[in-house]
Amino acid sequence: MSINLNSHAFADNPLLRKPTDPFSPKSALQALSIRILETNTLSSTSPNFTVLPFKNSRPLASSTGDSPVPVFQLGWISLEDLKGFFENSGSQLSAEWLVYLGSSAEDDAVYWAIDVSDHSSLVTELCSKEMSFVELRTLMVASDWEDLQAMRNLAIAGHAKALLEWHNISRFCGHCGEKTVPIEAGRRKQCSNDSCKKRIYPRVDPAVIMLVIDKENDRALLASRPKLIPRLWSCLAGFTEPGESLEEAVRRETWEETGIEVGEVVYHSSQPWPVGPNSIPCQLMVGFFAYAKSLEITVDKTELEDAQWYSREDVRKALTFAEYKKSQRNAAVKVEQMCKGVEKSERLGADSNTESGELTPMFVPGPYAIAHHLISSWAFPHQ
Ligand SMILES: [Zn+2]
Repeated sequence: MSINLNSHAFADNPLLRKPTDPFSPKSALQALSIRILETNTLSSTSPNFTVLPFKNSRPLASSTGDSPVPVFQLGWISLEDLKGFFENSGSQLSAEWLVYLGSSAEDDAVYWAIDVSDHSSLVTELCSKEMSFVELRTLMVASDWEDLQAMRNLAIAGHAKALLEWHNISRFCGHCGEKTVPIEAGRRKQCSNDSCKKRIYPRVDPAVIMLVIDKENDRALLASRPKLIPRLWSCLAGFTEPGESLEEAVRRETWEETGIEVGEVVYHSSQPWPVGPNSIPCQLMVGFFAYAKSLEITVDKTELEDAQWYSREDVRKALTFAEYKKSQRNAAVKVEQMCKGVEKSERLGADSNTESGELTPMFVPGPYAIAHHLISSWAFPHQ
């Protein structure tokens, strides 16, 4: 089995295709500020201003369970409803709290995100409407990767999460220590100190991810990590250091983690990855094939549990038997149960948000991860 995507999960965000965007961040913010001040605006007013709320980096979601596999939707709410929720909870919505995601003439809609973590009554009200704040990673596994629209929605949620998390970690100016304020509808920030006014741009931390291949192109090096899912084997990966090229990062990380010397490094593709650990939220995974000059493995036990050379045949089995559809279904059912308010203890399988993998000796990450595509395009080179 090999699954080919048109693009990686979290890429191909339709709202980031600038030529089609009828608003600039500045004009969108102006229009938003006017809408917020207006009274008696109908929710049918064109264009439709629609907002995706987040709580603790989790987007709001709803779910419909009318097919064999439940399908989730992002919990967009109209600006008018959001204003109403804030008024009901005794506060006034401020345009500064919203982050501009983009707009679409086709949809006649302008898209925003907001972090409502500090508004507990609003959170309670939203969750009483058969909606729930769900980990983006769970939504990622629950998305049908063959459904282009579902994958585009996932990309929009990923962009929103990355922007909101960046706002959370850039509250103060690194230069003078004063507070920062959002500008350009939350796409940038600026120091509020008039004598500083340092502009701050959203941060992206590039990480390299590489499938290391032997000289004969017969075997690939896969690694398992402590604390991750048992039997999950994947590519090596690591962050680039300042002053280092991507190719140098590939060679250094491979050497540090496995003691293997890499020669040629060939670019494959890249993937935005807004679902990494909370401490490092701004990742871009840059994928490579890395051709080994040596074979002997010395595992760095602080980074990896194990690393082994696997034949193409072994790797194909790991791709064949990993039950990605099953893990997608489990995650989709979990989202549905969360939206219906099913208590955690009563929900389907405790770890259904992660790859399932039957009791095969090994399996590799699902098709939402660039690692899957590096591995499968090596294992099935002619597809
Ligand atoms: Zn400053």
